Amino acid sequence: MAKFGGTSLGDARGMERSARTAADRGAALVVVSAVAGVTDRLAALASLLARGDRAGASGAVRGLASDHRRVARDLGVPGGALDSLEEPLGELESLRGAPAGDDPRTAAEVQAFGERLSSALFAWALGRERGGAVELVDARSVVRTDDRWLKARVDFQETGRRARRAFPEDGAPRVTQGFIGSEARGGTTLLGRGGSDYTAAVLAEALGAGVLEIWTDVEGVRTTDPRICPHAGPIREMTWEEAAELAVLGAKVLHPATLVPARRGGVRVHVGSSFRPDGGGTWIVEEAREAPLVRAVSKRDGQRLLTISTPRMLHAHGFLRRIFGVFDDFAVSVDAVTTSEVSVALTVEREDASDALLLELRRFAGVRAEDGFSLVSLVGNGVDRAPGFVAAAVRTLGDIDIRMVCHGASSHNLCLLVRSGQGRDAVARLHRAFIEEAA
Ligand code: ADP
Ligand code: ASP
Ligand code: MG
Repeated sequence: MAKFGGTSLGDARGMERSARTAADRGAALVVVSAVAGVTDRLAALASLLARGDRAGASGAVRGLASDHRRVARDLGVPGGALDSLEEPLGELESLRGAPAGDDPRTAAEVQAFGERLSSALFAWALGRERGGAVELVDARSVVRTDDRWLKARVDFQETGRRARRAFPEDGAPRVTQGFIGSEARGGTTLLGRGGSDYTAAVLAEALGAGVLEIWTDVEGVRTTDPRICPHAGPIREMTWEEAAELAVLGAKVLHPATLVPARRGGVRVHVGSSFRPDGGGTWIVEEAREAPLVRAVSKRDGQRLLTISTPRMLHAHGFLRRIFGVFDDFAVSVDAVTTSEVSVALTVEREDASDALLLELRRFAGVRAEDGFSLVSLVGNGVDRAPGFVAAAVRTLGDIDIRMVCHGASSHNLCLLVRSGQGRDAVARLHRAFIEEAA
C-alpha cells in the first residue's frame, strides 16, 4: 500500500512521477493528499465564506478550479475534461454564492475538496500508467468517524468493516483520499492537518497490508527538518518509539497518530521520496540496530504557554486532577508540562486553547496565557539517564532563553521551550552539537 503527500503531487509531472512509482511497486491501494498548498487555500476560502466575502470567495474558487483543470490538461486528459474532476469542481463552484456560516462543519466540507480533486487527477494518471481504468473510492464512504468535524476520531471497527468491503483483495488497483471521512449521518469530517498519513495507516491495519510506503519530498526521516539544516542526514531505521516521539514533537514528515494503527496491525512503514524512489529512505522497526543517545532534533511551533496557579496555596490536592479534567472535557492534548506545589506550566497548540477552555480553568485558578513559543526537542534513547545530558543541552543553547524544560518522564526525549523567533537557531545549535559533532 502506498500514500503520496501533496508535496509529491504539486503538478502534472509530480502526479505522473508518483503514478509511475505506485505502478512500479505494484501498490494495490494508493491514498493521496491534496495538491501541495491547496488545503491552506481551502481553509482560507472557508474563512472568506464565513465572513460573507463573496468576491474574495469567488476569486479563490476560480483560482483553485483553474489550477486543477490546468493539471488535467498538462496530464493530457483528452479535452482536459475529466468527469471525476468536474463533479467536485461543480460543487466547489456552486459554493461561491452560498451563505456559509462560521461553523466547523462547513470548514470540513470545504477543505475536503482538496483530496477529492487531487485523487481524481491521480486516479487518471495511474490508470494511464497501468494501461487500464483505476477505481476511485470516496474515502467518506469508508472512513467512519465521530463528529468532531476538523479533528475527528476514527471508529476503527466500522472503518475496518467498510474498508474490507471497499478494497477486496482482487488485485484491482484503487485510489482513495487521505484526510477525509464522514460521521454517522454522512457529514464530511477531517482527521486533522497532515492526516493523510493517518488514513493510510488506518486502512493498512484494516486490510492487513504488510507494508505501507509513505512517499513525500524527502528521502525518509532526517536527523532534523532539512528546511532548517539542509545537511541533516538520513535515518535508515528508527524504532516506533523514536518515530512517534519525533512525529508528536513536530517533525511534519509523519502525522503523529500514524504509527499507532500501523504498529498494532503489524504493518511495516517505510518513508521515502517520490522524487527519488530508489534513493533509500527510513524503515520504522521494532528494534533498530543502533540506539544513539540523540537520533534527531525536532521543533513544534505555535505553542501557547499556560501558567495555571491556585489561590489556595499549599497542599491544594486535587488541583492537577481538576486542571487535566478540563483539558479532557475539551479533548485538548497537553504537549509539555511542569508543576510546582501551587502552579502548573503547560503548553498546548495555540488554536486548542480556546476562550471557552480558559474560562473554565479560570473558574478555579489563575491563568496566564502567553503565545509565540516553540518546543525544541532532542529525541533519542536513554536521555533520562545520560549523565550531564541536560547540562550539555542547556549549555549548547547558550544565550537562547529557555522558558521551560521537560525531562525525566520519557527516556526518548528532552524538550526545551524557547521563543519562536529563536526556534530555528536552537535546532541548528542542538543539531550541530549532538548530531554533527557527535558523528
Ligand atoms: P507530504 O505532503 O508528503 O505529506 P509534508 O510537508 O507533510 O509532506 O512532510 C514533509 C516535510 O516534513 C519535509 O519537506 C520536511 O521539510 C519536513 N520535516 C520536518 N522534520 C523532518 C525530519 N526530521 N525529517 C524529514 N522531513 C522533515
Ligand atoms: N491535505 C491535508 C493537509 O494539508 C492532509 C495531508 O496533507 O496529509 O493537511
Ligand atoms: Mg504530510
